[in-house]
Amino acid sequence: MSDTKADKISELRERIKRCRKCPLYMHRKNPVFGEGSINSRIMFIGEAPGRNEDMIGRPFVGSAGKLLDDILSEVGLAREDIYITNTVKCRPPNNRTPYKEEIEACLPYLLEEISILSPKIIVTLGRVSGEAIRSTLGLRWRGITNERRVVKEIEYDSKKIKLLSTYHPAAALYKPELKEELRKDLGRVKKILEEEGKERRRTLYDFFT
Ligand code: SF4
Repeated sequence: MSDTKADKISELRERIKRCRKCPLYMHRKNPVFGEGSINSRIMFIGEAPGRNEDMIGRPFVGSAGKLLDDILSEVGLAREDIYITNTVKCRPPNNRTPYKEEIEACLPYLLEEISILSPKIIVTLGRVSGEAIRSTLGLRWRGITNERRVVKEIEYDSKKIKLLSTYHPAAALYKPELKEELRKDLGRVKKILEEEGKERRRTLYDFFT
């Protein structure tokens, strides 16, 4: 059994490549893994790959990904600062929302990613990921407009994590008025990250003094 983060992620990818746990494997050109720094303190979780992602096997590379990159940069974050993944790793036909059974079949991979990477902040994009993470924790999903108002302190795999939920960037492509809301939410993520960094430095300072 491998023991570094990189080894564990690479072993997980190999398993996902071979996965046939749900019928979505029949439609995929490529399974789409998480991407970004494995040491990042922030993990973004979307819904499922779309056409462009399926073609090249990378998450958030289509127009929704471009919008996300633009807003990240506007609030002072870069794609390199984050790790980004999806709830379901294979593209549902015609980009439909994944079915409950497909989400349930794929969720263990996402939970393994969370355990391996141990992020301090999780940002769910859209209903599917927000609901999937909450149901894992036995929490009820109260709709995006309610959930995005609160930063939830959760504990997963004996680690404390701040959980935030916002709109999926694809929703903001169809409803441009959501762009500003998404920008506000990602601005909050940046502030929480800065606070978390200060807290970490304080703890280290206390430890060494
Ligand atoms: S969507 Fe997930 S569970 Fe279904 S085949 Fe792909 S990797 Fe396996």
